Amino acid sequence: MIQFLFVLLILTSHFVMAKPMKVILDPGHGGEDRGAEYFGVTEAKINLEVAKLLNEYLNSDQRFQAYLTRYKDINLTLEERSEFANTKNGDLFISLHANAFNQSLAKGVEFYFQNQLPPDEEVLYLANKENENKNGFVTSDWPLEPIADHDHLKPEVMSIIQDLQLNSRIRFSSQLAEFLNMHWKGITRPKKHAIKQAPFHVISHVMMPANLIEMGYLSNKKEAHNLNSPKYQKKIAKSIFEGLIKYKETIDKSPVNDLN
Ligand SMILES: [Zn+2]
Repeated sequence: MIQFLFVLLILTSHFVMAKPMKVILDPGHGGEDRGAEYFGVTEAKINLEVAKLLNEYLNSDQRFQAYLTRYKDINLTLEERSEFANTKNGDLFISLHANAFNQSLAKGVEFYFQNQLPPDEEVLYLANKENENKNGFVTSDWPLEPIADHDHLKPEVMSIIQDLQLNSRIRFSSQLAEFLNMHWKGITRPKKHAIKQAPFHVISHVMMPANLIEMGYLSNKKEAHNLNSPKYQKKIAKSIFEGLIKYKETIDKSPVNDLN
């Protein structure tokens, strides 16, 4: 009985103590870089509008703490964006973009996360899997503890640790994409086309799980019109917010839940 109460206490304290999730929002482009431009709609502006709305949703909820890489229409390099996220020590990074394609019929959202490990690093993936708890979820807290004093570690050991961290980050990013896709209320694509992997700079250079969302196609007249409307912007910002809530709830419950 005492053991049962002890376990209950640990579980309860885990929920009570769950920290706010620090989300870094990155409105793509800005300043001289206007991004895609179709039908009088500018990508840089849309990205910023949606990011600001999402920022409001997140910061009005004590479970989250959000920051924007840019609050205005300014130039910002890709390095500055990822560096900002790393310096802020974010738990999640979300870059917002709008797509364009030479076929005007292309439409719908796309969620990108960083590429998987190359095949020769499969072994590291398996080693990482061995360290999971029996429910299949990595037991370590996110973010993984930075290794402050690593001078004494051999370079090959450091490289293995870094690979494990990368692998873990990719798995969390993939789960994030699933949740965001699940809650998306805007124009959609069939699931297998909605979640993709690509080595985008910003999502590959941050030290936290990351997604880049292409919120729709500006080259599609209907989507350009939607993305330009405050009502639709609110709708998709809310969708992302809801996806983030589910992601956080799942992460917070991870010691007792199976995500796989
Ligand atoms: Zn873009």
